[in-house]
Amino acid sequence: MVKVLITEPVHKEALKKLRGFFGQKNVVFTPIEEINKGKGLVKTLKEINPDVLIVRSNTEVNKEAIDAASNLKYIGRPGLGLDNIDLEHAKQKGVKVENTTEAEAIFNSVAELVIALALSLYRKIPLFNSSIKEGLWLKRQIKTSLLHTLNGKTIGIIGLGKIGKKVAKLALSFGMKVQYYDIYRNLEFEKVNSISFIELKPEDKMEGLKLPKKLLQTSDIITIHVPLTKGTRNLLGEKEINMLKKEAIVINTSRGEVVNEEALTKALLNNKISGAGLDVYSYEPPFKGPPHLKILTSLPNVVCTHHIGAKTEEAQKQAGLVMTEKIINFFKKEEQGRMK
Ligand code: NAD
Repeated sequence: MVKVLITEPVHKEALKKLRGFFGQKNVVFTPIEEINKGKGLVKTLKEINPDVLIVRSNTEVNKEAIDAASNLKYIGRPGLGLDNIDLEHAKQKGVKVENTTEAEAIFNSVAELVIALALSLYRKIPLFNSSIKEGLWLKRQIKTSLLHTLNGKTIGIIGLGKIGKKVAKLALSFGMKVQYYDIYRNLEFEKVNSISFIELKPEDKMEGLKLPKKLLQTSDIITIHVPLTKGTRNLLGEKEINMLKKEAIVINTSRGEVVNEEALTKALLNNKISGAGLDVYSYEPPFKGPPHLKILTSLPNVVCTHHIGAKTEEAQKQAGLVMTEKIINFFKKEEQGRMK
C-alpha cells in the first residue's frame, strides 16, 4: 500500500487519477497552512509516514521533514522551482525528487504573465482600471509621454532557459529587439530567432557586476528567469540596478531573492528607473514581510501579482497530470523490480 500526502493544491483531474491508482483513502490532501497552524510538517509526516509527498512552493521540505517520514520514497513538485526542497539530503536518503519540466503550459503561462506585466506598466492599465471604477476619467490627465508600446523596445532576458526562451519568442512577435545573458550561450537559438547574446566581460566583473553592463545599460525591459541558487541570490543587486536606464522597467517572475528588493525600492523611490512588475517576493505575502517590501508593493509605478506565474488552468492541469504519470510509473517500476 502506497500512501500519498499532498500539502498544496493539485489539479482535480490529477487528484482523481492518483486516487484511482493508489486508492481513495491512501491519497490525503492536508493544506500546508492547516499543517503549520496545527502539528507542523515534521510531526504530520511522522504520523502519516507517506511514501509520496506532493508539494508546490510553500512547503519547506528541509532535512528534518525528509527524516521524519521513514517510508518516504518520492517527493513530487507539479511545477518548476525546487528551491524549497533539500535536494542534497533527499539524494543522500535515496528519496527521488521530481518536478514537471515537461509541462510546456507552465512556461507559456509564466511568459505570458511577463508580457502582461510589461503591458500593464507601459499602458498604465491598473491605474485606468481602478480610476474608472472610482468614477474618474483620466484620459486627459495622463500624459501621452507616459504611455508606451512594446514594439521597438529592447528586452534584456536574464536566463535563457525554458521560460526565458518563451519570453524571447513572445517579445519578438511584439516587434521587440531581444538580447540576453545566460551562463550558457545558446548559439542555435540565437541564430534561429535572431536574438543577441551579451557577454559578461572581465571589465564588468572587475567593477563587481554579476551581469553584463551593456545588457543593463541598453535594455528598456529587464526580465529575470534564473532559478534561485547561491549563485543567483541578489543577482540583480544594487550595483546592477544602478546601471539601468532611467526609462527601464524590471520584471521579476523568478524568485524574490534573485533581486535586491531593497535596492529596487530605493531606485523606484528616487526615479532612477521607471517601474517594476513583480510576481514573486522574498517574503510572501510581501505586505507581511520587511518594511521595504510593503513600500515596494505599494508604489504606483509597481504592478504586482500574487506569485501566479504558473497559476492557470492550462498549466496546473498539465503539471498535475505529468506529475501523476511520473509517480505511477515510479511505483510500477518499483513493483516490477520487486517481482524480479
Ligand atoms: P531553466 O532551468 O529552464 O532556465 C534557467 C536558466 O537560467 C538556465 O538557462 C541557466 O543556465 C540560467 N542561469 C542559471 N544561473 C544563472 C546566472 N547566474 N546568470 C545567468 N543565467 C543563469 O528554468 P525555467 O524553467 O526557465 O524557470 C526559471 C525560474 O522561474 C524557476 O527556477 C522558478 O524559480 C521560476 N518560476 C516562477 C514561476 C512563477 O509562478 N512565477 C513559475 C515557474 C517558474
